[in-house]
Amino acid sequence: MSTIAFIGLGNMGGPMALNLVKAGHTVRVFDLNEQAVHELAEQGAIPCHTSCGAVAGAEVAITMLPAGVHVRSLYLGQGEERGLLAKAAADTLLIDCSTIDAASALAVSDAANQAGLAFVDAPVSGGTAGAAAGTLTFICGGSDAGFARAKPILADMGANIFHAGGPGAGQVAKICNNMLLSVLMIGTSEALQLGRDHGLDPAVLSEIMKVSSGGNWTLEKYNPCPDVMANVPASNGYQGGFMVDLMSKDLGLAMETAGQSRSATPMGALATSLYRQHARRGNGKRDFSSIFETFGQDQSE
Ligand code: NAD
Repeated sequence: MSTIAFIGLGNMGGPMALNLVKAGHTVRVFDLNEQAVHELAEQGAIPCHTSCGAVAGAEVAITMLPAGVHVRSLYLGQGEERGLLAKAAADTLLIDCSTIDAASALAVSDAANQAGLAFVDAPVSGGTAGAAAGTLTFICGGSDAGFARAKPILADMGANIFHAGGPGAGQVAKICNNMLLSVLMIGTSEALQLGRDHGLDPAVLSEIMKVSSGGNWTLEKYNPCPDVMANVPASNGYQGGFMVDLMSKDLGLAMETAGQSRSATPMGALATSLYRQHARRGNGKRDFSSIFETFGQDQSE
């Protein structure tokens, strides 16, 4: 068992850290939100007052933060203040599970290597349910040696662990996936509403499409229509889950990455626009399946 620092205890990081506690690791936790630290401490983690305090004495440090700007400033520091890289003990393995731009992942990886530390980018797929159940998919980028060290730790929080390639590759693979997810969520939403508008029961339509050629992950695990599926955000006022603001962020990253390679992503571009519009209408903090409501609004009113 290892001593692991876990920084960022939000919707995803909280349940991930808890799974490490349950697996028997010593888990030193920190978040800017004191309540989140308190809740983990009540379940067996060691509460810390700063990120550097959490990393002191840890063999592995895991971060689960909102975006690239947070990851850069935590690891590299800001202004006069030095970051985690300057304070971590030699041999600490650094794993960032946040979904961020590949350029930030590369910058932190380079700086870590210069400091003699291994860094693995390991964004996840599987949502808050996967985080709680310990069935996440980890999509890693980094050296073979770094990946080999990270894999057994990640296995205590996930079911599938992939090595996508060198530093930053995990982030590129992750945003390809999320761009596709956004397109599937929007397509599923408009198909379900079309059926509803013609008097179909969305639960019956979902069952039909799930085993037909339109079947996809959103129908199987994350139906966006309220009350079709239990235990999904759509049946809970679109609370919890994966925020529209975070999906918009990921789509922004996908568009940025597509621009760098001059890749054509017309569906991704449309999904980016629709999610931005949805966020601007006050839905930023709601689950991303709430895009369904866009299609339910009566345009004649
Ligand atoms: P969240 O906003 O719920 O949690 C982020 C946490 O980081 C917050 O508790 C915040 O207080 C903390 N934080 C921010 N800056 C910090 C700092 N400097 N030091 C310590 N703590 C700090 O977000 P989330 O839903 O847990 O998502 C985290 C990451 O995982 C994001 O990059 C997101 O894109 C990705 N992700 C989320 C989901 C999902 O379903 N929610 C799924 C896959 C990937």
